[in-house]
Amino acid sequence: MPHVAIAGAGLAGRLIAWRLARAGWRVSLFDRGARDDRRSASHVAAAMLSPLAERVSSDGVVFDLAQRAMALWSTWVPELQQDSGHEVYHRREGTLVLAHPADRGTLEHFAQVLRQKLEPQQQDLVRTVDRPGVAALEPSLAGRFEQGLHLVGDGQLANDELLAALTVALDRFRSEWHDGCEVTSLTPGALQTAEGRCDADVVVDTRGIGAKAALPGLRGVRGEVLTVECPGVELRRPVRLMHPRYQMYIAPRPRHRFVVGATELESEDRGPTTVRSVLELGSALYSLHPAFGEARLVHMAASLRPAFDDHRPVLRSTRGVWELNGLYRHGYLCAPALVDDLVRTLS
Ligand SMILES: Cc1cc2nc3c(=O)[nH]c(=O)nc-3n(C[C@H](O)[C@H](O)[C@H](O)COP(=O)(O)OP(=O)(O)OC[C@H]3O[C@@H](n4cnc5c(N)ncnc54)[C@H](O)[C@@H]3O)c2cc1C
Repeated sequence: MPHVAIAGAGLAGRLIAWRLARAGWRVSLFDRGARDDRRSASHVAAAMLSPLAERVSSDGVVFDLAQRAMALWSTWVPELQQDSGHEVYHRREGTLVLAHPADRGTLEHFAQVLRQKLEPQQQDLVRTVDRPGVAALEPSLAGRFEQGLHLVGDGQLANDELLAALTVALDRFRSEWHDGCEVTSLTPGALQTAEGRCDADVVVDTRGIGAKAALPGLRGVRGEVLTVECPGVELRRPVRLMHPRYQMYIAPRPRHRFVVGATELESEDRGPTTVRSVLELGSALYSLHPAFGEARLVHMAASLRPAFDDHRPVLRSTRGVWELNGLYRHGYLCAPALVDDLVRTLS
């Protein structure tokens, strides 16, 4: 039975571990955090799967990976539910992009750039919706917006459910999970921790920003999100609200919860969410629907997106050690395609 040792149990590490465990590999997974540590980018993310909404600010490489990943999620989520016995919230109802009247120009520019980047056969995925169209898609927002865009095929996941299901599935496959275990070096055939050495046929580095010292050019991009609970509003799909300075989104979750995000700051500060960010995200949320004024703020979180300068993810073997990193703001969007490539290469 081939043996893989993986450094980092975020989204990338867990997905690789699960796919290889299912293919019959012996898996050893190491993370410096505890199993219930929720500080990694993978835990903090909104986990929107939005190839179209992200296409405006990302390049064709990310878009192609995202399209493959969307298809993989459709088979992987049911497989994971079966392997773990846990429900994982996964929807593909599109993204609704909206703007207040003062920001209408920003919405029009967004639509223009997106359409220019899409192939002729993809144009139908970007649908302009008017006031009744917004109401039909999201009855809670009826009468509040004159115009919007429905990006057909975008989706979302509940990352807390997904990461928990991966943990259970890995236990069921009898994978070894070493938590609270800092990896200090990776070499072909061996991974070194403070507690000792693990020999394996294949070694994979998925430490996110924790690999910064080993990966020249990797940087952390700070992002903050709020989670609110608001029984007064129902949304079926993520809503993006145009703003001249930033894009803000609200992603619905089970049990009347909404993830509101996200800031994007060139900073490697891992400190708690700032008052300024709470005010900006909170006021945009309130402007979407005043019922959000009564929403309960149940969680605030900040983390670092691991990114390279070109904002493209990297999957490569460097001197015999596999590295998957630089997922930036597209980890959930792209990871399955890269993990699938790795698993196929190793098989
Ligand atoms: C606010 C925010 C919102 C986001 N929203 C989205 C979104 O809507 N859609 C989307 O697709 N993506 C989103 N992302 C991006 C996504 O979260 C990341 O791209 C992805 O989670 C990166 O996963 P990873 O496994 O590479 O890294 P991480 O999640 O950072 O995991 C790395 C793991 O390695 C461990 N580690 C680090 N160093 C060591 C060491 N020396 N030894 C052992 N273990 C170590 C860490 O403890 C951690 O568990 C968002 C990110 C943020 C911060």
